[in-house]
Amino acid sequence: MELDPDAIGLADPVDPASLDLEGGVREVGVPTPPPRLSPSGAGTFEQCPRRWRHRYVDRLPDPPGEAALAGSFAHRVLELLMQREPAARTRDAARMIARQEWPETEATADYAALAYGEHEGRKFRWKAWQAIEGLWKLEDPADVEVEATERDIEAELAGVPFRGIVDRLEREGDGLVVTDYKSGRAPSPRYRRGRLDQVLLYAAAVEVDTGEMPVRARLLYLGQRPVGIDVTRKELDVVTEKLAATWTDINTACASDEFEPRTGPLCGWCPYIDRCPEGAAAVEKRDRAKAKSDEAMMPAAG
Ligand code: SF4
Repeated sequence: MELDPDAIGLADPVDPASLDLEGGVREVGVPTPPPRLSPSGAGTFEQCPRRWRHRYVDRLPDPPGEAALAGSFAHRVLELLMQREPAARTRDAARMIARQEWPETEATADYAALAYGEHEGRKFRWKAWQAIEGLWKLEDPADVEVEATERDIEAELAGVPFRGIVDRLEREGDGLVVTDYKSGRAPSPRYRRGRLDQVLLYAAAVEVDTGEMPVRARLLYLGQRPVGIDVTRKELDVVTEKLAATWTDINTACASDEFEPRTGPLCGWCPYIDRCPEGAAAVEKRDRAKAKSDEAMMPAAG
């Protein structure tokens, strides 16, 4: 089975809407539905309710790791770049912004936790720069008619209090387009549609907020390719109904304080595995099966 760690944001920029742990003052350790649900909060619960509990109820740290942190830095640089006049959105300008912004990222506890030396730090910055420069493989930023960057939108979607932060809203000839930058690996066709849920939810929220339904929603996989979809009423209904089902499940789990562990290949990336016997057993079983299959592939001695 193909792993899809990017599906829960392991390799993508940290979702700013999830950083306030979905808002509101809630007692740590007491299961309470959040006042607002972000796409990453919904995605975490869909992947594993137990993981959601640890992150959003117990508020245990979920450090972003190198790939997501580099993605967040790239994301910040592109946000500032796209706020400039079209003609000023050049590679040189991006380099200058990156130099200005770097000290802030370098000073974060998340970066310090990586404990990088000089060489690894250089590699990290190079990786982030590759993502930034990857924008020019997809478009000429000077051609984009930007309506908004980092638009923080709260809207009720199918009865769910939703919050999302839209990377970029732009105007094209036929209407509004919702764009989100991604620095992780572009999905194979099997996972493509699932990845678009996030930007379709943003499109639904933009419609509630502005009264105008966007015509397209897309993910820009920096340095790789865009993955997009035409926004239709049907597509919006599908994603908002799914969000509503997840919201119901979150409320039910909070009321009963039952958060089932949903084991799977992604347990190997879970920061809470030390607290989760079911996940640890699943990873151990998988490792044993792999070791056995590796052994079977070895040529016989002698
Ligand atoms: S280890 Fe797996 S089952 Fe356990 S909380 Fe994490 S994702 Fe869920």
